[in-house]
Amino acid sequence: MGAADAVEKLLVGRWIAGDSIDDAIARAKKLNARGIAAIINYLGEEFTQKQDVDNAVGTYLSLIGEIKENEVRADVSLKLTQLGLWMSEKTAAKNYSEIVSFAKRHGIFVWIDMETSRDVDATIRIYKKHIAKGNVGITIQSALKRSGRDIEGIVAAGGVVRLVKGAYPEPASVGYTTRSAVTRNYETLMSYLFRHGRRFVIATHDKRMLDRAVKLDAQYSRDVEYAMLSGVRNNLLLRMAQEGRNVRIYVPFGSRWVGYSYRRLREASNAKLVLRSLLEYEKV
Ligand SMILES: Cc1cc2nc3c(=O)[nH]c(=O)nc-3n(C[C@H](O)[C@H](O)[C@H](O)COP(=O)(O)OP(=O)(O)OC[C@H]3O[C@@H](n4cnc5c(N)ncnc54)[C@H](O)[C@@H]3O)c2cc1C
Repeated sequence: MGAADAVEKLLVGRWIAGDSIDDAIARAKKLNARGIAAIINYLGEEFTQKQDVDNAVGTYLSLIGEIKENEVRADVSLKLTQLGLWMSEKTAAKNYSEIVSFAKRHGIFVWIDMETSRDVDATIRIYKKHIAKGNVGITIQSALKRSGRDIEGIVAAGGVVRLVKGAYPEPASVGYTTRSAVTRNYETLMSYLFRHGRRFVIATHDKRMLDRAVKLDAQYSRDVEYAMLSGVRNNLLLRMAQEGRNVRIYVPFGSRWVGYSYRRLREASNAKLVLRSLLEYEKV
């Protein structure tokens, strides 16, 4: 194995639990033992073939069954383009409904991952139709200029938001294109959630945003959770768990790891961060 292959194997192993549901459940159990809950995602996106979509739906139903069976503390997080959004909105909505109803019967919470700006309208439309089910949340990205309005609408409708910066480069017509502008908007949206949200998740590895959130938490006493991606600054999250905060780690599994890993590599932005990610993971 060459050096590049070895680094790839190490990194992917930190970021992704493995190929199978069993791998994801095993990783979630380990986290649970350290006081950290999981958010499990089956990798894959932008499907246009019925058999890929059917496989994703079947996998999520099995995953939910296994979470229940193994009594692990874990939510599920899915992408609507896995469920057929690029085939038709109706297909994605039907598949999402089936998964949400099944999860509700098993007492499990289902998140929607947010994808590129192209899919945001349909994603929010589908989500809003399911808020009344009570076991659903949606991700909103501070990288998008529209997100303030979207959060207001979702909070007003009783929805649950997971706030992220956004993993997809967006054009200046719809998105903020500098990291500082994305972070400024993150702070604005986070403050809105603390002031008006009932229940939400602050999903970031940005220490400055987390410190700010902890201060707001003391001021507003909301039902807030903190979430990070598997293998990124997990020591920090472990410390937050030890302080008694509700924390979660996003645990992807499956064989389609290229797109996900590419986004993580881009965010790491320099070798020092990648190295820190590797070293810190060992301790969780
Ligand atoms: C639980 C969770 C769910 C998510 N769901 C979605 C989603 O549905 N849709 C979506 O678009 N995005 C999602 N994301 C990704 C998110 O949008 C960002 O791309 C990602 O979290 C990096 O942004 P940041 O907030 O950590 O801030 P950044 O400013 O990118 O990073 C802050 C600091 O964190 C550290 N860091 C960040 N990334 C890495 C890395 N890969 N390796 C090493 N160090 C790193 C560095 O110290 C960096 O300075 C999710 C993130 C989390 C934590």
